[in-house]
Amino acid sequence: MMIIDTHVHIFPEKIAASAVSALERQYEIESCGSATVQGIISSMKKAKVDGSVLLSIATRPGQVESINNWISDTSKTNPNLIPLGAMHPDHPDPETEIIRMRKLGIKGIKLHSEFQHFYPDEERMFRLYEALSSDMVVVFHAGDEIRPLTKIHTRPKGLASVVDSFPELKIVAAHLGCHRCWNEVEQYLIGKKIFFDTAYVFPVPGYEHLTTRRITDIIEAHGFDKILFGTDYPFRDQSKEVDNILNLDIDEVHKKMILGSNAVKLFNIKNDTGSSEVITD
Ligand SMILES: [Zn+2]
Repeated sequence: MMIIDTHVHIFPEKIAASAVSALERQYEIESCGSATVQGIISSMKKAKVDGSVLLSIATRPGQVESINNWISDTSKTNPNLIPLGAMHPDHPDPETEIIRMRKLGIKGIKLHSEFQHFYPDEERMFRLYEALSSDMVVVFHAGDEIRPLTKIHTRPKGLASVVDSFPELKIVAAHLGCHRCWNEVEQYLIGKKIFFDTAYVFPVPGYEHLTTRRITDIIEAHGFDKILFGTDYPFRDQSKEVDNILNLDIDEVHKKMILGSNAVKLFNIKNDTGSSEVITD
């Protein structure tokens, strides 16, 4: 079975420790591995994860190009790391940078509205979605742990409007559609043409927003073909998160889809990830 973790954060060696401790403080969470290339590689070995999708976030428009260069270089030397690039809503020329990303082998972008201050259905975002066309993936951080629900920018209703306006766009909403807004996920997003990842949703001591039963219900209702295994490494342990999927009360064939085959199709992952397995549908 091919296992792809579609939600991983790593940083260049010299800033990894400080970037992670800033996030730990902000979200009052703890990391379980180092957010470096070496950290993710050893975690993948232990968890038998074949590929990890690297999510990059630019907090300022000026960071976009250098992050994209780094993420592309990193994935070229480590083919089992799949690069998603950074973009910022205030970037002066997203069209040109997205063309450059394609040449760098970058498969899409990650947007984080709480760090980048935008609403997904704002008109200024549309040129970005146009530029991504039907080949590049956009992953939205959705919901939030630290802000009151009323102050969250990326909510199911706004995402649903983007899905309706850009039917060709490949959209992923992290955290099972929207962290801590799962009633709204059921109201606005269930069944629509949008992927959900499973990052940071399974219950652990001190974090019990969702039960495994409710997670299973949302996954079943939305459709097994639109669920992606994701962990939020280094903030969740890849081995334990793989077990969480394997322990779900669903068919084996659906577990395979969630753990890998949906991601292989969405990100157009060739079998050059170092895995000896042949990818079949
Ligand atoms: Zn994340």
